[in-house]
Amino acid sequence: MVFPYWEAKVKPFRVIGNLYFVGSYEGSSHMLDTGDGLILIDTGYPQTLYRLIENIRALGFDPYDIRHIVHSHGHYDHCGGTRALAELTGAKTYLGAPDRDYANGTLDLTWAKELGFCQYIEPFEPDVLLHDGDRLTVGNTTIDFVATPGHTPGTMSMFFDVTEDDITYRAGTFGGAGTNSLTRAFLEEYGLPLSYREDFLHSIEKVYDEPVEVFIGNHFWNNHAEEKIRRLGEKPNPFIVPGEWQSFLDGVRREAEELFRKDP
Ligand SMILES: [Zn+2]
Repeated sequence: MVFPYWEAKVKPFRVIGNLYFVGSYEGSSHMLDTGDGLILIDTGYPQTLYRLIENIRALGFDPYDIRHIVHSHGHYDHCGGTRALAELTGAKTYLGAPDRDYANGTLDLTWAKELGFCQYIEPFEPDVLLHDGDRLTVGNTTIDFVATPGHTPGTMSMFFDVTEDDITYRAGTFGGAGTNSLTRAFLEEYGLPLSYREDFLHSIEKVYDEPVEVFIGNHFWNNHAEEKIRRLGEKPNPFIVPGEWQSFLDGVRREAEELFRKDP
């Protein structure tokens, strides 16, 4: 962890094709240039929103071209900047339907307190509530949403094509891999069912066979991005790693099973 969060800078970069990293170390944000406006995946902490905007500009884009803001799930470190950014740009916001009450402030479940902030101060009402199998097509890009509940009930994994040097690759992100919200203490504190754990393991199996060649972490360390950016510009693109998706999910499954064994 890097403290304070807003000093956790990452120089923005093009990942592959029309996909860019514009987030911070503690909260990843990715951007897709669709040719018909920008899609942003997660906004990160409200404290790092200014950096997100600077990063988009640094890559030669205009933040006012953000038309759609899609979210992996309703936690503070993924949608903390959304309210302000949506007001600034007029972008449409998307969130897994079961996380709606996280984002709009009805439930105090955004993990803000656990992340060191007293409360979620910038609630928003999502424009579009996402369900399993939903699809968003904008310009040259189509995102397939797959419900992968567990980390939160509304966690959404996303899959889309990216093209580089005339070759198309499948990119994917697992919406919520942390087991932090699945400890018995956390679930009991908030009156949440222990069955979230079964949902989590089931979600891993549900997307395990997706043919992901470019794994996008929703935290910087998930896909070894720090090591890969040192090799940016090399061929093949260091972010193309067939099998990384499955080995990541294997690790997540192992960690979850160990937690559930030690903390039944
Ligand atoms: Zn989370």
